[in-house]
Amino acid sequence: MLFGRKQKNPIKIADKKITSWTYATCGYCSTGCAIEIGKNENDEVVGTRGVGGADVNRGKLCVKGIFEHELFDAAGRGDTPLMREQTNQDFKKTSWDDALDHTASEIKRIQEKYGRDSFAIVSTGQIFTEEFYTLGKLTRGLIGTNNYDGNTTLCMASAVSGYKRSFGLDGPPGCYEDFSHTDCLMAWGSNLPEQHPIIYWRMKEAKEQRDFPLIVIDPRVTMLAQFADIHLAVNPGTDVVLQNALMHVIFDEGLEDKAYIKANTKGIKALREEVAKYDPTTAYKICGIDEDTIRNVARLYANAGTAMNIWTMGINQSTHGSDGVVGLNNLSLITGNIGKPGGTSLSITGQCNAMGTREWSSCSGLPGYRYLENADERQEIADFWGIEESFFPKKRGMAQTDIFPAIETGEIKGLWLVATNPMTSMANTPRIRKILDKLEFLVVQDAYVDMECVEYAHTFLPAAVWAEKEGVMTNTERRVNMIRKVTEPVGESKSDFDIFNELATRFNSEKKIVFPETPAGAFEEMRELSKGRLLDISGMSHELIEKSRGIQWPYTEEQLANGEAPPKGGKRLYTEPATFSFADGLAKLIPLPFIDNNERPDAAFPFWLNSGRLVEHFHTRTRTGKVGNNNKYSPIPFMEISPDAAKELGIEHQSYVRCVSRRGDAVVMAMLTHRVAKDAVFIPFHFFDCVNRLTLGLLDPHSRQPAFKQGAIRIEKIEDQEAAARMNKEMRTY
Ligand code: SF4
Repeated sequence: MLFGRKQKNPIKIADKKITSWTYATCGYCSTGCAIEIGKNENDEVVGTRGVGGADVNRGKLCVKGIFEHELFDAAGRGDTPLMREQTNQDFKKTSWDDALDHTASEIKRIQEKYGRDSFAIVSTGQIFTEEFYTLGKLTRGLIGTNNYDGNTTLCMASAVSGYKRSFGLDGPPGCYEDFSHTDCLMAWGSNLPEQHPIIYWRMKEAKEQRDFPLIVIDPRVTMLAQFADIHLAVNPGTDVVLQNALMHVIFDEGLEDKAYIKANTKGIKALREEVAKYDPTTAYKICGIDEDTIRNVARLYANAGTAMNIWTMGINQSTHGSDGVVGLNNLSLITGNIGKPGGTSLSITGQCNAMGTREWSSCSGLPGYRYLENADERQEIADFWGIEESFFPKKRGMAQTDIFPAIETGEIKGLWLVATNPMTSMANTPRIRKILDKLEFLVVQDAYVDMECVEYAHTFLPAAVWAEKEGVMTNTERRVNMIRKVTEPVGESKSDFDIFNELATRFNSEKKIVFPETPAGAFEEMRELSKGRLLDISGMSHELIEKSRGIQWPYTEEQLANGEAPPKGGKRLYTEPATFSFADGLAKLIPLPFIDNNERPDAAFPFWLNSGRLVEHFHTRTRTGKVGNNNKYSPIPFMEISPDAAKELGIEHQSYVRCVSRRGDAVVMAMLTHRVAKDAVFIPFHFFDCVNRLTLGLLDPHSRQPAFKQGAIRIEKIEDQEAAARMNKEMRTY
């Protein structure tokens, strides 16, 4: 007798008659899956497939990558430059020359009238590294504003800050292959199956082979927590307390790696003194994890041959996100788990090229992980670009999250947004609306003209998307990978690279700085500037990267000259004898007192508000909201609430409710589930005019990253469900 599927018709995949495949890298998340884009004999893009020989994804793609080819002719693309005097007027189509002339003259007018830093630039984690490098050269070398940042401040700034504080420079030290060697994995605020499905698949396959313990630390019973051996449902915002308590037990029971600490670190005394205050009994009262579990987990982690910590936004998006990263680095360092196969402290990055902007955009410094605060490094770049060193500021300017308040106070008058959507991504949407409305000049450069911020723009510059152009991106494990152009940009839109170069000519009349005309030319400059540095890419070229299906840095010109092939699998930073990026080569152990400054639930707003991602969507849905097969699985915003809390409030499954915070309100559909605690709710962050109407977004003092995951709301039942459904629909644009 036949059972189940055998009795059904097999799934048939339509033959799309693909005649050619072009190599690329997925343009959504930072996993960095290698992908091929297929065209049919009519030269139409009709499909995508994972690349079997690529180490990252080995032929697999998630639901976003599988339908990525549908981006090119999706609705809402901007196909011509637009301008208007006032935002209450209709846009008029214009030529590229007029749009760029006007943009340049407005930047100059504002800078002359109010000062060089009164014009700000906020970019993205989505464009290619050569484009980031060119934007940095234009901004730092010609425009000269110091208020220049990327939207990566919303996702990875705490990881960057934490790596710099512990190791001296940014740069995740581990790789995906570490899953295949580790004896214990702790995942902090990281829901891999939904956020990074292919990294999850790598981890799951490794666990099936070697069955290492998986410990998940998350207030919510995420998909990853459901698969964990141990789930620590920590109280929101208290991860530093748990980290200190784990270190307390490790020191108390003598489980630390004394030899590693002595040879590679400094600061052990102060760290010991601080964690001595966090005995498990005391810590339990703050972080909610009982003392026996804290002791068990500390022993499991410290006694494992090798152990790794991974984390995502649950750590980063917090008022002490940078401290949380340093805490994980501390845990790794005191147990000797850095630079070893299976022993690492690995941030799982958010956007596809958040790493590229960290490395080469000059947002928080100068290209190649150079610091504005370092005179030698300023001089080096000034000489390379052919400008005066004195043109550079001597320290970093505002982060994105400080730029918006500075518009509010009138310090900043003009803004250029590049492929970023603060109307949906920033906390406190009502405040961001008012802020954008105050600008004397807003230029938006984006692939989508229906992106929410365009409503406030004076000029719109239509940009090409993903494989309508060419360049590289760097993924979570430092792998530089190639995107080849498969089709022409839609309408009159141009690659970001060309837009930056053409705008640069408006600031470069004396031809002070030479801008390479092609992405390959910009890559050559980056190669040159990388020589001898932590992120050395001097052995790489576009051709070799494509041939190798991505190369992890460092890969030097000496390795290339010696005939050393780029490694296929894992590669690590700070292998022993470790030389960290401080002058003395030692990593810093940093004590982390817990400061409880989050907004907390109270009688008026009794629920913790948590936000996060869904597997079908990417960030603000500018792209996936228009791809049918992504959007149809998650078409509307919803809220996870526990059945017990819902019963007390008289709320039914799949009914609409109003969530209210001190900032605003949002209408969502209630989904009853035991994934959240009785005093907590979860709302996906992808939807416009939704969860970020509620969030406060207090800033981390080191990274300036907002706390999106710790806020307080109340929930109101809505009697008129039809009106609520209409309101829900009207508040979302698509
Ligand atoms: Fe793209 Fe990330 Fe999905 Fe891979 S896991 S296909 S990189 S969205």
